[in-house]
Amino acid sequence: MAQLSDDCFAFGGTLLGVDAALALIAERVMPVVGDETVLLVEASGRILAHDLVAGMDVPAHPNSAVDGYAIVHADLLPDRETTLPVTGRAAAGHPLGRAIERGEAIRIFTGAPMPDGADTVMMQEDCTLIDGKVTLQPGIRKGANRRHAGEDVEKGSVALAAGRRLRAADLGLAAALGHDRLRVYQKLRVALMSTGDEVREPGTELPPGAIYDANRIMLGSLLRGLGCRVSDLGIRPDRAAALADTLAAAAKEHDLIVTSGGVSTGEEDHVRAAIESLGRLDFWRLAIKPGRPVALGQVNGVPLIGLPGNPVAAALTFAILGRPLILRLAGAGDEQPAIFRVEAGFAYKKRPGRREYVRASLIRDGGTIVAHKYPKDGAGILSSIVRSDGFVIIDEATDGLQSGATVDFLPYAEIIG
Ligand code: AMP
Ligand code: MG
Repeated sequence: MAQLSDDCFAFGGTLLGVDAALALIAERVMPVVGDETVLLVEASGRILAHDLVAGMDVPAHPNSAVDGYAIVHADLLPDRETTLPVTGRAAAGHPLGRAIERGEAIRIFTGAPMPDGADTVMMQEDCTLIDGKVTLQPGIRKGANRRHAGEDVEKGSVALAAGRRLRAADLGLAAALGHDRLRVYQKLRVALMSTGDEVREPGTELPPGAIYDANRIMLGSLLRGLGCRVSDLGIRPDRAAALADTLAAAAKEHDLIVTSGGVSTGEEDHVRAAIESLGRLDFWRLAIKPGRPVALGQVNGVPLIGLPGNPVAAALTFAILGRPLILRLAGAGDEQPAIFRVEAGFAYKKRPGRREYVRASLIRDGGTIVAHKYPKDGAGILSSIVRSDGFVIIDEATDGLQSGATVDFLPYAEIIG
């Protein structure tokens, strides 16, 4: 567990490239949570706190990969059929209990331990059984259809590395190694609030000029998806004093505070004044489009992420900056979202210097996957994310692209579910 340094979000420049921002996070932010032991059934989505070193081989014993007959390969005649007496039986959970002898065949089933001395299994489809004797085809490779002890996981190796967010197969592997519980990081406790005098709770009446709060439910869902324990602090008015009280109270019982709205530089933006009264605030102006500054600060030592109010800007800045920052605070290792190469179904012009994230849908065209730009791209058009599949990423250096070019595509599923 660690305490962030006071100036961990200090940043003097004007525009910050995405890669530079991620490097700053990697350098300055560390896990702020302790660890705990949880049952395997509760461990899905949790972050492993220590390397899981295999205390045993998986599989623990050499065993058969098929139903058939275990033999000593040297007993086979190289150029014609061999007939051997079937003198024993080994099934999964029921070992033969002795070594095989030369000249014997042992009836064996998938998963049954290989009898000592047996090195090969002939599939039953390639054998003929008559009167307790089995006739085997020539030509099988020595060692065929035999699984080795430790071929899945070797005793002493790192089966799951610390920092891994546990998925179904990880839990399966931990169980295969005999674990019924795992040491994981405690859930990051996140206080989440929206700000804005115009912002109202869905399900209530909407006065003239007001809007419903789209961000809080969206960000809460994203945070829970990252394994955070979210406290809902509701909607806070645009009054610095009221905000300051809420933030100071939240800092007592949380590891992170996430806000949306109120952090641009307009005079109605009170989050900034509230935080500065309690700690420190830095603005990270990412060199991205669509982009809005993200406020990164500390309230009585607890980190705070202030996302922009426009829902698309909130989602994008969460994906690009918030997500890696939160994963790092929560103890997760470096996770690179998968980016795919697809064909651009549109031409695009941009100014060099910013990385642009263009909302697009994928459509298969014969053997090619083509990204089609979503027609509306305002920072407030949340339906554009609902109705498209991900971002085409156009890097800083370029001034645009031609239709038909190969481009990077980042699916929403990788970053904002
Ligand atoms: P702000 O960042 O406070 O300047 O807000 C930018 C835009 O986002 C304004 O149009 C706000 O009304 C809108 N907005 C702010 N908070 C929310 C929210 N929680 N849900 C939906 N829209 C919001
Ligand atoms: Mg506002």
